[in-house]
Amino acid sequence: MSTETTASPVRVRIAPSPTGDPHVGTAYIGLLNFLYATQRGGQFVLRIEDTDRTRFVPTSEQMIFDALKWAGLTWDEGPDVGGPYGPYRQSERTEIYREHVEILLANGTAYRSFETAEELEEMRKQQIAAKTPPRYNGAHRHLTQDQIVAYRLQGRPYTVRLKVPTEGSTTFRDELRGDITFDHNNVDDQVLMKSDGFPTYHLANVVDDHLMRITDVIRAEEWISSTPKHVLLYNAFGWSLPRFWHMPLLRNADKSKISKRKNPVSLIFYRESGYLPEAMLNFLGLLGGGMAQPTEEEIVSKQLNTKEGDIFSLAEMIEKFDFNRISLGGPVFDLVKLKWLNGEYLRKLSPEAFFTQLRATIFSDAYLQAIAPLVQTRIETLGQFGDMTGFFFSDNVLPAESIFLPKKRTYEETIAFAAEQLATLEASAWDLESITNALKALGESKEWSVKENFMLLRAILTGSTTSPPLVESLVVFGKARTLDRMRRFLEAEKKRANQRK
Ligand code: GLU
Repeated sequence: MSTETTASPVRVRIAPSPTGDPHVGTAYIGLLNFLYATQRGGQFVLRIEDTDRTRFVPTSEQMIFDALKWAGLTWDEGPDVGGPYGPYRQSERTEIYREHVEILLANGTAYRSFETAEELEEMRKQQIAAKTPPRYNGAHRHLTQDQIVAYRLQGRPYTVRLKVPTEGSTTFRDELRGDITFDHNNVDDQVLMKSDGFPTYHLANVVDDHLMRITDVIRAEEWISSTPKHVLLYNAFGWSLPRFWHMPLLRNADKSKISKRKNPVSLIFYRESGYLPEAMLNFLGLLGGGMAQPTEEEIVSKQLNTKEGDIFSLAEMIEKFDFNRISLGGPVFDLVKLKWLNGEYLRKLSPEAFFTQLRATIFSDAYLQAIAPLVQTRIETLGQFGDMTGFFFSDNVLPAESIFLPKKRTYEETIAFAAEQLATLEASAWDLESITNALKALGESKEWSVKENFMLLRAILTGSTTSPPLVESLVVFGKARTLDRMRRFLEAEKKRANQRK
C-alpha cells in the first residue's frame, strides 16, 4: 500500500452514464476507485452523468446501482444514498452548470457560437474534402457585442464553446504516465453547453469534480484526450487541479478495446450466468495489475500452485493493492481466466454454501416460477420438466446444422439472418410485445416467414426444434444471456465455416 500522505482526505468518484446495461469497465474503474479511497480513509462518490439525453436509458441507473452492489462495491455518497455535495445526478444540476457558463462567458474564456446545425455540417464537409481534421473553425470567437445582440434578438439558438488558446500547449501530469502535453492546435473549441441548455460531459464533469471536492480523478485511459480541455476549464475557473490517473483500457484477446462483439460486457450477464461476485472482483483486481504476485520463495515455502497467487479477497486487495504497480499494457479481459477463477471460488464453497448459491441464482424460486407456467400444459409427468426446459439451465446448447437450417434457405443466408436477429434483439426492449414486434418487422423486411424466423431463433436459444413458447422463453432467459448465446452461435459457425474452407 502506498504511504503517500495528502493534505486533505482523498475523495474519488466514478461517473457512469446511464446509457444501457452496466458495463464491466464501470465495475473495474469502480473497484480501483473504491480501493484507492478505502486504503486512504477517503470517500468514494457515485455520480450519475445523465446529461446526454439522446443516449439516456431510464432503467439504466437502477441497473448500475444493483450491478455494482452485486459485485460487492459500496459508495459513501451518491444519488441513492445522498451526501453533502448533492445532487449527485447531473440532470438535477443544470442550474449550477448555467451559472458556471456565465462565469466563463464573463471572463472571456468561453464564447457563444450561433452557427446552425447545417452550417456546422457544411464546415465539416469542407474540412473532410480538404483533408483537414474536422473541428470548429473559430468563426464566432470574436463576434462583436452588436453581432451577438443581433443574433440573440433573432432568437438564434447558440452553443457555448471553450476558447482554446490558438498557440502553445497544455501539459498535465498523469500519475501513471508522467507529464502529457497537447498542442492547442490539436484541441477543438469544445462545446460546453448545447443549444438546449444542457451541458456537455466536459463542463459538467469538471464543475462537479470541483464542487464535489474530488482530489483524484481515476478513470479509463480513453479520457486522456479530453483531459487538456478539462485542465483549460479548471484554469478558466481559477480552480486547482485534481490528480489524474488514467487506467489502462480492458482489451479483448486480440488487444482491441473490449467490446460486446467479442466478450459479454454487461455485468448483468455475469450475474445471471452464475458468476460469483467475489470471483468477478478478484478478476477485475488482477486486471489492474496492482496486486503483487507471490515471490519464488513464497511459492516454494508455502507450496503454492503459481496460479494461487491470483486468488485474493477484497479485504486482501484493500491491504495489498498498490497503485504504483499498475502496468500500462492493456490488460486482457480473459474469459478463460475468469471462468477458471470462478471455478476456484465454487470449489472453495462448503456444500451448503454451494447449494445456497444455486438456489440464489440458476435455481432461484423466481426463475423456476417464471419457467414453470411455460411448460405446465406441455408435459404429462413432472419428470418431463427437464426435457423441455434444459436450455434454461445449460450453458452450451449449440445446435447442429440439421436443426437450425430452414429447409428452403441456404447456409449463408441463414447465418446472415441470424446476425440480423441478433442486431434486432440487441436494439429491442425486453418484453413480450417489443420482442415479438421487432422480430416480425425483421422477418417482413427480409422476407422470412414467421415460421422460419422463429425456428432459427428457437434452434439458437434451445439447441432444439421444439420448445416452450419462444418469445416467452426469451423474456425469462433474459436479454444479456440471450444475446450472448446468439453471439456464441455466430462465433462457432464462423469457426466451423473457416475450418471447412
Ligand atoms: N461519464 C463518463 C463515463 O461514462 C465519465 C468519465 C470520467 O470519469 O470522467 O465514463
